[in-house]
Amino acid sequence: MSTTFPDLKQANFSKQDIIAILGATSDDKIEAVRSAAQNVLLENCGNKVYFRGLIEFSNICRCNCYYCGIRKSNQNVMRYEVNTEDVLDVARWCVNQGYGSMVIQSGERRSERFISKITEILKLIKQETTCEELPQGLGITLSVGEQTPETYKRFFDAGAHRYLLRIETTNPDLFAKLHPPEQTPETRIACLRSLREIGYQVGTGVMIGLPEQTLEDLADDILFFKREDIDMIGMGPFIPNEETPLGQAPCSTAQERVRLALLMIAATRLVLKDVNIASTTALQALDPEGREKGLSFGANIMMPLMTPQNVREKYLLYPGKPGLQQDSSAVHADLEKRIKSIGREIGYNIWGDSPHFRKGVK
Ligand code: SAM
Repeated sequence: MSTTFPDLKQANFSKQDIIAILGATSDDKIEAVRSAAQNVLLENCGNKVYFRGLIEFSNICRCNCYYCGIRKSNQNVMRYEVNTEDVLDVARWCVNQGYGSMVIQSGERRSERFISKITEILKLIKQETTCEELPQGLGITLSVGEQTPETYKRFFDAGAHRYLLRIETTNPDLFAKLHPPEQTPETRIACLRSLREIGYQVGTGVMIGLPEQTLEDLADDILFFKREDIDMIGMGPFIPNEETPLGQAPCSTAQERVRLALLMIAATRLVLKDVNIASTTALQALDPEGREKGLSFGANIMMPLMTPQNVREKYLLYPGKPGLQQDSSAVHADLEKRIKSIGREIGYNIWGDSPHFRKGVK
């Protein structure tokens, strides 16, 4: 095996190349990776950062993922669901602010009541936000977990056109250590394929720095994104939550997890080139400048938190969630300043779809 660092300008990275990139520790190698990823981003996606206002619709969840603070068995969580009018307020706020899109995320639920409520909300958002600037209304990304193909179709027909469902890890043994036996990677993959078939822009991602996760696992994750023709990536560092079974599991330091998460963003940009990549809240939770760093390592999407203040702290996946006290306008002003400070622009009043998806004419 060669010990030289891979050529960062090549078109086809091997698994060994990706492992070497993820293993970079010296400042000069990390800077070389960052700068190469930034060039690939600018060439394939341009300079713009797109905002999606994020509303955490409900923390009620049927799942018991061993890492997640809103898991069903966590008795310390006060459960909530945002009412329709409050979701519409967020949608209107996004339009007024020039955001082209929003994200609705929620704990996983499959009752007919939940599904029809989300469907109704999607339709209302479309009705309320269709205007001169946004002739097709706000772009809507949905992230409400594993559902049946029929449910995904209902959501799609009601107006959602992007869907995020993280695979969390593609290593089946590691997946089994993170989830109860009834959850499987096969089901997630089937969901991702069904979403693609229906016509969604499909997003997935992984947690980075999980206990026992290797660089080889992460390289396999990136190759999985490529193989599955994924359009959007959302990934961030694993953050242990004491209220969960994995709260005490040994993992690397926060600083190491941030470094690895940034290298993962850069490596994904180098390999996939034209997909949208989000700079996630979990990065900011571990490093106050984590989200800007994510942008400079190849991400082009930000998801400012718009969840109503009265429930924001009840959607606690992990400790240290940022922006709990800030109101949406303050969050926006802060992000705008930070984005300009790193020489990037905000893409106002457009959906900001993944160029990868548009090229595929899917
Ligand atoms: N129910 C939807 C789903 O499963 O896709 C959306 C909500 S789920 C809570 C959103 C994401 O939070 C998960 O995909 C997971 O990667 C992330 N997450 C949960 N707990 C985490 C933790 N302790 N550290 C980092 N990320 C975490």
